Amino acid sequence: MELLEALNKHWGYEQFRPNQQEAMTCVLGDQDSVVVLPTGGGKSLCYQAPAVCRSGLAVVISPLISLMKDQVDSLKTSGISAAFINSSQTHVERRLVADAVGGGQLELLYIAPERLVQERTIEFLKRANVSFFAIDEAHCISEWGHDFRPEYRSLKKLRKHFPRVALHAYTATATEQVRADIIKQLGLKKSKIIVGSFDRPNLFFRAERMDDRMAQVREVLRRHKRESGIIYCTSRKAVDELSELLNKQGFRTLPYHAGMAAEERSQNQEAFIQESCDTIVATVAFGMGIDKSNVRYVIHCGMPKSLENYQQESGRAGRDGLDADCVMFYSMGDYYRWKANIEEGAKKNRDSSFRTLRAMVDYCTGIQCRHRSLVEYFGQKFDPDSCNACDVCSGELDVVDGAQVIGQKILSSIVRQGQRYGGEYTAMVLKGSRDKRVRSNGHDRLTTYGILEDQRVQTIRDWIEQLVSQGFLIREGEYSVLALGTRGGELLRGEVAPTLLKGSDSQTKLSKRVTRQTTSWEGVDRNFFDELRTLRHDLASQASVPAYIVFTDETLRQFARIKPTTLADMRTVHGVGDKRLADYGEAFLVCITNHTGQPASDSETDELDLNSASAGEDQLAGKR
Ligand code: ADP
Repeated sequence: MELLEALNKHWGYEQFRPNQQEAMTCVLGDQDSVVVLPTGGGKSLCYQAPAVCRSGLAVVISPLISLMKDQVDSLKTSGISAAFINSSQTHVERRLVADAVGGGQLELLYIAPERLVQERTIEFLKRANVSFFAIDEAHCISEWGHDFRPEYRSLKKLRKHFPRVALHAYTATATEQVRADIIKQLGLKKSKIIVGSFDRPNLFFRAERMDDRMAQVREVLRRHKRESGIIYCTSRKAVDELSELLNKQGFRTLPYHAGMAAEERSQNQEAFIQESCDTIVATVAFGMGIDKSNVRYVIHCGMPKSLENYQQESGRAGRDGLDADCVMFYSMGDYYRWKANIEEGAKKNRDSSFRTLRAMVDYCTGIQCRHRSLVEYFGQKFDPDSCNACDVCSGELDVVDGAQVIGQKILSSIVRQGQRYGGEYTAMVLKGSRDKRVRSNGHDRLTTYGILEDQRVQTIRDWIEQLVSQGFLIREGEYSVLALGTRGGELLRGEVAPTLLKGSDSQTKLSKRVTRQTTSWEGVDRNFFDELRTLRHDLASQASVPAYIVFTDETLRQFARIKPTTLADMRTVHGVGDKRLADYGEAFLVCITNHTGQPASDSETDELDLNSASAGEDQLAGKR
């Protein structure tokens, strides 16, 4: 089967996403590869589609049991024979899978690294006609990555035991260093390195100081009524509190953190995936292994310690390519907590931890296009002048008049203080604080003392951060001492002006919120979409699979838009492959025809060979 044919037959997709074809060609051509695509870039298909098109068994190495289960459920729903082997299974279940492998009935087998490298497994796989190995979340192999897993290191053995089988590594977050490490650790040969764009144009990024957490969070939730989303908090206590408060106000949330009993945690995760709860309020313990494609918002109540973390966590929104919101509510308190954390930790890598934390702060406080900031941080160029999908580019931010004079006042105070103090102290001098340190340093006698006395200290602190992010100031050394940056002189001479933001409270900010103009809801009957969602939820529960696996949001929106009344029409909708049509088409058709009052026409139904779509086929049935 050709790749595009497989894409259409099994997934109901019409074309490749960027870089997919190239990545798939490596798999078909047995050329080792490292594929770096952002979350939602469609990495899974890069190995799943070739696995269907070629003979033999594709072995997928995946770190998490929950991830394996969802992927296998999704493949089976697409009519592909797949299975996993892991510790969640009984001996008999594992035996069944082993028999299916032995009988050449499986197209894909998912397995955890620690099990794969056991001698018994290797010997077993040597007899199994393995066509290639796909290593998911490959950055886990590198100590430089943020998710290092020692058990990934033993994957080195694969090359030795399977010298003629190609290895393909997939990750969303590889820096060049991590990439080189993946190649070295796996012993890849003449590997093709494919790096996609890190930009996710469907995500709308915002960053706001947190000043009324409930009001700010509520505003986002109200815009996403009944839609799925994640709220990240920085502590377990904050998770429990926020979830409870939101539930009291009528939202459907559940908490998730490592302090909860494992059973309760997995129940809550399941409820989120099955859509019996809308919002999961969680620590960073939640997320890896969640493939849910229709997460419509990710809110951060507190900044993570690095942009790598932020990109990964916020990236869980909008995997299906439809619009989603990523909102960061930060406070400088978060920064100080992370800073203390780094100082208390091991000396090794301390400097780089500080640098990554600073980049995170600059992202929050800066006023450069958020997409640009993220993409450039990961070492790529960002060409568009405006992304039209962040608070900066859409004009949500309130700019102050007279920023040049304010900037000059701040810079000249820093010069007069001898360029030896940090942001907090400088803000106190400019505010005219009676603080003991300011007086004992004699800084209450500077001409800049109290020169911004009518401003809030917080606002002055923000301006300082904004001046740093625009290169007028720099931070030096362990104590983040402020000094003039490369553009500092130009500002003092009045040749340039910075952009500074009004220290507005969240209320004024909310009133400026823009509504994104997009086409993804155009022509969609929203109430009917909700009806279809309910049906999807029921069908998914019956089949014990996540709701988004039955049909994606995009598919349901298209159903609610064009209201197909025949199976043939339905088959042309994006995301409807042969098996999904056979398994679920009829139920949706009934729902649509009930809604439109038009009887379903079955004359065209006969044209579709539903038997070939293997309705109700046993999960381990043989290859066709
Ligand atoms: P990643 O693993 O890179 O985070 P996934 O493989 O989970 O991304 O893909 C994200 C979503 O995009 C899934 O719902 C997947 O089915 C969908 N997708 C992948 N490739 C395509 C394509 N060519 N056309 C349409 N949708 C696609």
